[in-house]
Amino acid sequence: MNTTILDITNLHVSVGDKEIISGVDLTIKKGEVHVLFGPNGSGKSTLLCAILKLPGYIITEGSVRVHGTDTAELTTDAIANLGIGMSFQHPPQIKGVTLGRFLETINHGGDLSIPISELAMEAFLERELNVGFSGGELKRAEILKLYAQSPDLLLIDEPESGVDIENIAVISRAINAMLQKGSPMASRERSALIITHTGTILNTIHADIGHVFMDGKIVCSGNPLDIMEDIKRDGFSGCVKCIENRKEIS
Ligand code: ADP
Ligand code: MG
Repeated sequence: MNTTILDITNLHVSVGDKEIISGVDLTIKKGEVHVLFGPNGSGKSTLLCAILKLPGYIITEGSVRVHGTDTAELTTDAIANLGIGMSFQHPPQIKGVTLGRFLETINHGGDLSIPISELAMEAFLERELNVGFSGGELKRAEILKLYAQSPDLLLIDEPESGVDIENIAVISRAINAMLQKGSPMASRERSALIITHTGTILNTIHADIGHVFMDGKIVCSGNPLDIMEDIKRDGFSGCVKCIENRKEIS
């Protein structure tokens, strides 16, 4: 079954009066893990924020469908309830709300004791959400939040940035478990769109499809490891596949 979870067509997004996303087409099917590479400031985080219609991100053209439902008239809450969860690049600190209380509020009824233990978050449940958390702790809390939400599509923004190697291993194990990466594609329930600036996360999370994002557009798509090799060798602007793709377009 090739069920489509997310279908983005010709998406244009502005922040203030500046266009940041300039015509993105992207389809994610059930079980697929997509990875988005791209330089700083190219609009990767903006794309995720626009999918959830966070305040300030204005869709000026194009459409986003989740499970076939056009989100044009939906609120962020309603879009999340269609089955989308997001782990932020820079999660907000929320004083007065403990991590434990926050998890109770968003939990869909699952037992969180195993992910809390695997992500080593027991000592953080009584702490105010993200307040004073280190880089690794922030990302572990974000992944725990996804466990609680249990979405069909995980939007994960730079899970490895500001995180040491041991924490990357812990986070990757948890993401792989959520994505059922040990099971055949057909039996996987969840999909993901993972942003990576460095590509480090690909050592531990096996993505199915990679995209290079530049200047608000997807400029090429293909095997994630091949794309990462090209980027490592030639940088983003020299990515062979991007250049080939641009030739095809022009
Ligand atoms: P990336 O995640 O690829 O590094 P972003 O999506 O964070 O890029 O940012 C893309 C561009 O949009 C940047 O130039 C950034 O300054 C701008 N931008 C993003 N969010 C805002 C905002 N809330 N207000 C003004 N500019 C923004
Ligand atoms: Mg970003």
